[in-house]
Amino acid sequence: MMLLKSLRSSGTFRSVLFLRFSGSVRNASKFDYDLVVLGGGSGGLACAKEAVEYGARVLCLDYVKPTPAGTKWGVGGTCVNVGCIPKKLMHQASLLGEAVHEAVAYGWNVNDRDIKPDWKKLVKVVQNHIKSVNWVTRVDLRDKKVEYVNSIGSFVDPHTIKYKTKQGELKQPTAQYVVIAVGGRPRYPPIKGAMELGITSDDIFSYEKEPGRTLVVGAGYVGLECACFLKGLGYDPTVMVRSIVLRGFDRQMSELLAAMMTDRGIHFLNTTIPMGVERTSEGKLLVQYRNTTTQTDGSDVFDTVLWAIGRKGLIEDLNLGAAGVQTYNDKVIVDHTEATSVPHIFAVGDIIYGRPELTPVAILSGRLLARRLFAGSTQLMDYTDVATTVFTPLEYSCVGMSEEMAIERLGADNIEVFHGYYKPTEFFIPQKSFRHCYLKAVAEVSGDQKILGLHYIGPVAGEVIQGFAAALKSGLTVKTLLNTVGIHPTTAEEFTRLSITKRSGVDPTPASCCS
Ligand code: FAD
Ligand code: NDP
Repeated sequence: MMLLKSLRSSGTFRSVLFLRFSGSVRNASKFDYDLVVLGGGSGGLACAKEAVEYGARVLCLDYVKPTPAGTKWGVGGTCVNVGCIPKKLMHQASLLGEAVHEAVAYGWNVNDRDIKPDWKKLVKVVQNHIKSVNWVTRVDLRDKKVEYVNSIGSFVDPHTIKYKTKQGELKQPTAQYVVIAVGGRPRYPPIKGAMELGITSDDIFSYEKEPGRTLVVGAGYVGLECACFLKGLGYDPTVMVRSIVLRGFDRQMSELLAAMMTDRGIHFLNTTIPMGVERTSEGKLLVQYRNTTTQTDGSDVFDTVLWAIGRKGLIEDLNLGAAGVQTYNDKVIVDHTEATSVPHIFAVGDIIYGRPELTPVAILSGRLLARRLFAGSTQLMDYTDVATTVFTPLEYSCVGMSEEMAIERLGADNIEVFHGYYKPTEFFIPQKSFRHCYLKAVAEVSGDQKILGLHYIGPVAGEVIQGFAAALKSGLTVKTLLNTVGIHPTTAEEFTRLSITKRSGVDPTPASCCS
């Protein structure tokens, strides 16, 4: 370690590594940089920071174009500025509102009748936190000697990138490797008033106005999560669902989640699409829509319209034609090594076609790529069995296959589904509904019953599933799961108590918490 540190500080580290790891010895001086990373979000920063650890000279370009509503933000990408982080903070804010009422049931002397959220204050503290993360990120990049420039990068040719400095000077550095990590931005529907009058997740976390009665269009992660924290903060959201909620997830779990949201007073406009938005003379938003099942038109008035209809890859400014990089549907096509159609150009994160759009996926694939490029590693990113959580008030977390996928791949006769409702101990005193607290394990029917998928709706689902995800990746079986001693009283222990199979038809509702 000492040797590595002194080599790194003496500047010989990189040359040693190149001789040791690059396979073919290359002329380090031929290019201005060993690596140019386009995009300073989760994937790009992880790749850039890892690469400098192995002595690479790295330039990272990151630039955010303002939204149509004028929102802009700093370095760090979607997760830090307009994604996971502000979302989790607003989720927490909404859960705390609920907790205050529960506290009264537990004997706290709180006057919970007058409790109201202060939207402006919430936005301010969330934005302050984001700014502190932006600052720490910039310091970290400087300390690690990643050259960071706040500018749009695009290809001139496969090894040359161009960008403009703050002073307007055009730069055209060359690079041995280029990593495209430009992520995506929310889509707007091609209907009247969408861009002018609607906002997206890029705006909501810094929205100065109280959202009020909000139409959330889209029933994916973003739509459901935003609707839920808005409801928890006392607003009145309606979710417009084009086809089904949470397409691609386990159907039973998704329907249960939607039922939980309905129970909490969130409205759903099912099989409905927006047709246009206009401003009324009172300053509200009149939304015209069509129910595609009944073929009837309707309209309603909202304070805010939030588009959550998916994201498009940000390839538009990259001039990928000049590099010969192939794309599909706004995304970059890569092989199992994250290489694009041009062997020295790679892509990581949301910009890759057909891979999960999640921060830990972007980070790990970026890190592993840097290790393969600069440290002789051969480890590839494994995109299977990636755990994920939908941050609704009862969260939904899962890892591995849905029941439908397992049936499709193995056949219904070859899988066993263990399931159960459960009653979190802490729900009893405030008399919280546990109607939607449910979990299931999808397993092979034979042998020790290898587990193919785990699904959980309940409190802190992400915390529960994270550890089980490691177990599932290590080949967890039902036998092992049931031989695991639970931690009592937790909700995670319910996985160790699963005994009822769907096939048996036995009622999966528990009689008490500790039987
Ligand atoms: P990004 O983080 O989007 O970074 C790309 C950067 O490149 C951006 O700053 C972009 O402006 C910049 N850029 C684009 N073009 C150029 C160019 N030509 N030159 C220079 N810079 C450019 N994931 C989770 O795992 N958990 C969550 O809870 C979660 N919540 C989310 C909530 C919301 C509302 C959203 C929208 C997403 C959420 N995600 C979550 C997804 C997660 O944010 C993304 O998967 C992750 O940020 C992708 O990282 P990335 O590096 O690929 O791209
Ligand atoms: P999704 O693709 O998950 O969902 C888009 C939703 O919008 C679907 O319900 C889709 O319906 C609907 N839709 C699409 N086009 C239209 C249209 N023209 N009119 C009406 N409805 C439409 O996108 P999100 O924006 O919700 O999320 C993007 C990604 O970000 C996710 O895939 C996820 O990876 C990541 N993310 C992760 C989070 C987490 O980890 N907790 C949180 C938030 C985002 P249909 O099913 O009919 O196509």
